[in-house]
Amino acid sequence: MGTRDLKTVTRETLAACGSRIDTSVAEGMEVMSPLTGTAVASLAPNGEADTRIAIENARTAFESWRMVPGPRRGELVRLFGEELRASKADLGRMVSIEAGKSPSEGEGEVQEMIDICDFAVGLSRQLYGLTIATERPGHRMMETWHPLGVVGIITAFNFPCAPWCWNAALALVCGDPVVWKPSEKTPLTALACQAVLDRALKRFGDDAPAHLSQVLVGGPEVGAALAENPKVALVSATGSTRMGRIVGPKVAERFGKCILELGGNNAGIVCPSADLDMTLRAVAFGAMGTAGQRCTTMRRLFVHEDVYEQILPALRKAYASVSVGDPLETDALVGPLIDAAAYESMTSALREASDLGGTVHGGERQKVGPKTAYYVKPALVEMPEHDGPVLRETFAPILYVMKYSDLEDALEKHNAVGGGLSSSIFTTDLREMEIFLSAKGSDCGIANVNIGTSGAEIGGAFGGEKETGGGRESGSDAWRAYMRRATNTINYSRDLPLAQGVVFDI
Ligand code: NAD
Repeated sequence: MGTRDLKTVTRETLAACGSRIDTSVAEGMEVMSPLTGTAVASLAPNGEADTRIAIENARTAFESWRMVPGPRRGELVRLFGEELRASKADLGRMVSIEAGKSPSEGEGEVQEMIDICDFAVGLSRQLYGLTIATERPGHRMMETWHPLGVVGIITAFNFPCAPWCWNAALALVCGDPVVWKPSEKTPLTALACQAVLDRALKRFGDDAPAHLSQVLVGGPEVGAALAENPKVALVSATGSTRMGRIVGPKVAERFGKCILELGGNNAGIVCPSADLDMTLRAVAFGAMGTAGQRCTTMRRLFVHEDVYEQILPALRKAYASVSVGDPLETDALVGPLIDAAAYESMTSALREASDLGGTVHGGERQKVGPKTAYYVKPALVEMPEHDGPVLRETFAPILYVMKYSDLEDALEKHNAVGGGLSSSIFTTDLREMEIFLSAKGSDCGIANVNIGTSGAEIGGAFGGEKETGGGRESGSDAWRAYMRRATNTINYSRDLPLAQGVVFDI
């Protein structure tokens, strides 16, 4: 697709979602598409004053939204889910244009938004607290969950909309307004999502205050302003560990709440009893899908020596034959890297691996699209040691493969990295599976058996340990982070017994 065509498609896609934003602002913030490596829009960025005003407005919205009953708040999210269904193809295309994903993956991301909306609607009637046994006669003790306040959401380029929705759908049913700072690389998807939500808000009626959901376009400085502002009760930040190291302390300094969803260095372990055909397919999707640009991408693979010579040739073949190309023009499985910097970090990691004795298969830049775009063959690297670039996240399609002979040893290496997001074991041996899932097994927030590291469902809590930041979003009881808890003790007796039997007679 030519540069001019892509600009037109971008404009039309935004309009189809309902956005009327000006995308040709003179000397504005350029938005690039990795499909062509060229600008598809120019937007007016939001400055410091805009951010401050947006937070003030969100705080005002909070005053009334927190008093709207939970199930009624759920109705807004139900309507949003309906509007997302109607706009699925358009939003999916927006994701493809900005993040370079295939239509199937782009629409899959929108499906994730629809799924979390469904989850949140049910949740809106289940914001339960406990009734707790009290030691004092004639007393009752209970726990109440109240809306928390303004939620600031910072998101990464590689999932331009689903993580926002994991936060926003829950925040809205929990009674909290949201202010979203999307990646400066993918602001258009955010503006398109906001336009879709605006349609739901219009249908919802008057009990939704203005400024319940806002988008701020800009770079790290806008994220920093959210992190520093004491009126933002919760900052949910998705991105690199580098970003988390800056944002986390800023929020902590003012005793704000934080959910950090940061980088991972995810691994799989292939045991002797593994179903190798299934393993091959799971590893291929986990390591090459989304051009290796998922936080859950499989980056390391420990293969037992008994099956190494069986699975490696099959993996090499899959890597050599995988189709790389513009996912809007072809049915290629692997799209572009986000930009030149991503390509440089990939080539430098491969150079380092090679210097350490690694054998690199693939990794070459492909002649696809204009010179400004970065399409690469995914790289499979056979490493003699668990060392060097293997120990860190390089946000590109590189899979380091290492041989092991003892599961305990493989597990030790598996856990010996900074990231603690996702992990998999491939086995049909019950003992190996249980060890991997046990307290001495994988130390990640996500531990899978016989499926890859990526492609989580919304029903489970999503997030990871260590340098992944410790946050949890999406399903299970992640909603609690968006509310404040009060413990209430009610005395319905005529006495005043003190807890722990303390006496204080006056
Ligand atoms: P990034 O850290 O460069 O940017 C992420 C977001 O943080 C952007 O909106 C950016 O503007 C903002 N930001 C950057 N520096 C900031 C600062 N100092 N203060 C405030 N905000 C700041 O990440 P990226 O390149 O967009 O995304 C890739 C990274 O995100 C990878 O490390 C990937 O693993 C991680 N990621 C994690 C998850 C998860 O759920 N754990 C999901 C997606 C991506």
